[in-house]
Amino acid sequence: MNRTKQGEISCFTVAIIGGGFAGAALAAQLLRQSPRNTSIVLVERGARVGRGVAYGTPCGQHLLNVPAKNMTAYPDDPEHLLRWARLNHDVNVQPGDFLPRQVYGQYAAFVLEQEVDRHPGRFERVQDEAVSVDHAGGIVEIKLRAGETLFAGKVVLALGNFPPGDPRLPGKTPHSQRYVSDPWSPGALENISRDHDLEQYQQEQSVLLVGSGLTSVDVTIALRARGFKGTIHLLSRRGLLPQNHKATAIWTPFWDENSPRTVRGLLRLIRAHVEVAENSGSGWRAVIDSLRPFTQAIWRALPRAERRRFLRHVRPYWEVHRHRVAPEIGVPLATQIQDGQIETHAGRITAYAEDADGVDVTYCDRSTGEKRSLRVGLVINCTGPEADCRRIENPLLNNLLRQKMVRPDPLFLGLDASEDGALIDGRGELSDFLYSLGPSRKGSLWESTAVPEIRVQAAQLATLLLAASEQDKPKLIQRETGAGLHSAA
Ligand SMILES: Cc1cc2nc3c(=O)[nH]c(=O)nc-3n(C[C@H](O)[C@H](O)[C@H](O)COP(=O)(O)OP(=O)(O)OC[C@H]3O[C@@H](n4cnc5c(N)ncnc54)[C@H](O)[C@@H]3O)c2cc1C
Repeated sequence: MNRTKQGEISCFTVAIIGGGFAGAALAAQLLRQSPRNTSIVLVERGARVGRGVAYGTPCGQHLLNVPAKNMTAYPDDPEHLLRWARLNHDVNVQPGDFLPRQVYGQYAAFVLEQEVDRHPGRFERVQDEAVSVDHAGGIVEIKLRAGETLFAGKVVLALGNFPPGDPRLPGKTPHSQRYVSDPWSPGALENISRDHDLEQYQQEQSVLLVGSGLTSVDVTIALRARGFKGTIHLLSRRGLLPQNHKATAIWTPFWDENSPRTVRGLLRLIRAHVEVAENSGSGWRAVIDSLRPFTQAIWRALPRAERRRFLRHVRPYWEVHRHRVAPEIGVPLATQIQDGQIETHAGRITAYAEDADGVDVTYCDRSTGEKRSLRVGLVINCTGPEADCRRIENPLLNNLLRQKMVRPDPLFLGLDASEDGALIDGRGELSDFLYSLGPSRKGSLWESTAVPEIRVQAAQLATLLLAASEQDKPKLIQRETGAGLHSAA
């Protein structure tokens, strides 16, 4: 169909770079919403579409942290996932169930496949890595690692979370053999031995996870699933772990435009509601959940200094209450903590010393200020994704930053973008050809990483792109017939 060939002029209406949930959902929405003559190309470097890091996990025990009733890919069809799951996974799936993430990956792939089948000849999937983007005369050129060039009218970056940045570990050398920088990279956890049982436990057979959020929970589950029986130490600045989900009553939404526009004022308001909710038996979870539909509006209403204040002082507490784990995950985790199989620590790492048999990690205890030491066999970075795009080693991002086609948002949470996803370039101008969706929009939306937000972005961005492409059509036709575009491959 629209694939470029040497000497041939051909241009996709929209190119999506990144085929995780966000890319797949956007492609499905474009196909669903578009007239016949639009064409879409999805560039994904991995072998499978719809999975990404979250739903491509090799561990069958990793569960969604959002119940099935809230994980549909389509905002206008809340039962879509439930219907699919009852047909394709388990006939007894209930709305409050937390499905395996692998199953959700199959669903995300199905969502796209179904639309591709309904709209034959309009979608192409390319397995490659996009490494650069160029723009001239209303057409975007996307260079792929293997050498091919694609042309498109609009390009959407659906790159997902950036890989984790390394925490400060004074004393660690670049040649460390006992440090895993990115637990999501393929094979990263395979160093952990399967055959040590608790009786044979020695200090060196314990593992330190730096960070105690959702990544640590995931890594703990993966380690146990691989048969690792040693002690797992979780060390973070505050030692906070994600809370469990629990069934809650609905709490009447209470935030509106007249609510305080300061972090302090908002906290006071939320605490007052939590107190009433706790006393009435509804519980704090109901209050936090009632804020979810308004989180983006709250973020937008806060002045930048207040957003910064939130990030500095409140974020860790917000994260553990807002991003909760399924009870099937949280309960065994609590038992392991009680039994001493998992030890939690709060503090700041001050020294890292590695020898042939293990690593000594020293940290300054948060509550006592005393120096404490742990002897472990392996240290795994579970601090979560890096947000500052200037620190990422990624050819495409580096290229876009160098050309000033994108810039970080003012708080370095992702890429600077308008509320509807158009990227803002290095000169502060709104792009009319480059867009984004998903985690990189955290700067303008804050709540932008999970399916309930991404599926709305996908639906709205598809509408916007199709309307904008319609307007561009005369320009593109003129350019295509006049300029003689051809692929470099
Ligand atoms: C471990 C984990 C668990 C999660 N669990 C949940 C959950 O239960 N519920 C929920 O709602 N959310 C969850 N999330 C949030 C998650 O971020 C979103 O649900 C969703 O997966 C994000 O999709 P995405 O497409 O933006 O990113 P990703 O899924 O990360 O996809 C990005 C894709 O882009 C590709 N890519 C990147 N750069 C290029 C390039 N230059 N060229 C080609 N391809 C490229 C990557 O290969 C990748 O496949 C979880 C996140 C993580 C990390």
